[in-house]
Amino acid sequence: MQFSKIVSTIFLWILCSGGSVFSQMSSKTNDLNVLSYELLLSTDMSNERFTGTVNISFLISPEAREVVFDCGNLQITEITGSKVAGFTQKNKKVIISLNSRDKTENHIQITYSGSPSHGIVFIPKSQSIYTVFSTSQWMVCNDSPNDRATFKIELSIPNGSLCIASGVLKNTSNKGDKTQYSWVQDYESPSYTYGFAIGPFNKFQETHGKISLNYYSTNHTLEQLKTIFRPTGEIIDFFEAKSGIPYVQSSYSQILIGNHYQEMSGFSVLKESYGELVMNDSTETNLISHELAHQWWGNMITCEDWNHFWLNEGLATFMSAAFNEHKFGKHKYESDIDSYRKVYESVKNKGKDKSLVFDDWLNPTREDRNLVYFKGAYVIHLLRMELGEKDFWGGIKFYSQEYFGKSVNTLYFQKAMEESTGRDLSAFFNKWINKTEG
Ligand SMILES: [Zn+2]
Repeated sequence: MQFSKIVSTIFLWILCSGGSVFSQMSSKTNDLNVLSYELLLSTDMSNERFTGTVNISFLISPEAREVVFDCGNLQITEITGSKVAGFTQKNKKVIISLNSRDKTENHIQITYSGSPSHGIVFIPKSQSIYTVFSTSQWMVCNDSPNDRATFKIELSIPNGSLCIASGVLKNTSNKGDKTQYSWVQDYESPSYTYGFAIGPFNKFQETHGKISLNYYSTNHTLEQLKTIFRPTGEIIDFFEAKSGIPYVQSSYSQILIGNHYQEMSGFSVLKESYGELVMNDSTETNLISHELAHQWWGNMITCEDWNHFWLNEGLATFMSAAFNEHKFGKHKYESDIDSYRKVYESVKNKGKDKSLVFDDWLNPTREDRNLVYFKGAYVIHLLRMELGEKDFWGGIKFYSQEYFGKSVNTLYFQKAMEESTGRDLSAFFNKWINKTEG
């Protein structure tokens, strides 16, 4: 029935989407502010490897004698820049000694290669590659969700394949048997939202207002892609209305590929078999809307550290139910919320309930992930019941507009909802969300 279908979808979702988060817990890089990344990447499908050169522009405090970036298991071969005195790699970080700093911008260039076990997936059978979440596994960067920067990526791929990446496509140029793609994201977002996908995809394209919508797969026909992603434009309209903020760029792409569900700036990857689920039941669009919701809540309004991850995931999960209510009616919404509540109660019944604000999101368990997604969404629903329609949605819009393009913590969310509604919500937040003392 409905519940088991949602739960089976939820099971896949949790396995994939939250699975690699723990590896991304970044130390605070207090005074580092990256302005831009410009990456030139070459992939080697047969050896499942890549080489890259990234130019990083950043600000750092005048007292700093070194700058530290996350580098996963990448092998760094060279770092150049007028201020660079040397570097060492330790514990998935690269520590770069600086001779002096510029008060304005510092520029360094890092050359590296890699063949990581996660963060990038090679599928030789379909000649496809895609990234998933752990950006420092394929590009030296600052992993902190609190550091927003612009991003440019250039990739040369075999003719006949297509490349989708964060930002908008600026240029393609033919070079013998390869085509070079240049994608530019000219607005700032956290590094975990950067990514790309390459493959000999079928592509269905349509427009919704001024937005170009693109759907890709190696195993689905254009007609199937059109059917699976049919509600995309309507979902964008719904989130624009609820956030009070237009979708951030001129295109949005969705790719059915591999085994993951992962939002990135301007596109999402969805598990390949998910296409069949939607074709068999056109109401099974929760993951299309969940990943799309992150284009607002997550990518552009971002938890400042992973202990407040529920702000990203609870809101995106709730919003997928809210869209279902809009599209299919109250019964569908109530069914979704009920399934979230049941997941939460199963965690609670195991004695593993925790506050939604975590002490240390370093090694989250499956139950912890269930809490941020499903207790998170359920508690947003309870807040809706507490406030009533007008105040709740007014508060969501106020919060979204106030913090669009910024990093937030739970207190920002509470204060925004209080300021918008004129109500003291401390009892609600202390009961359901905040860390309890003792
Ligand atoms: Zn999510």
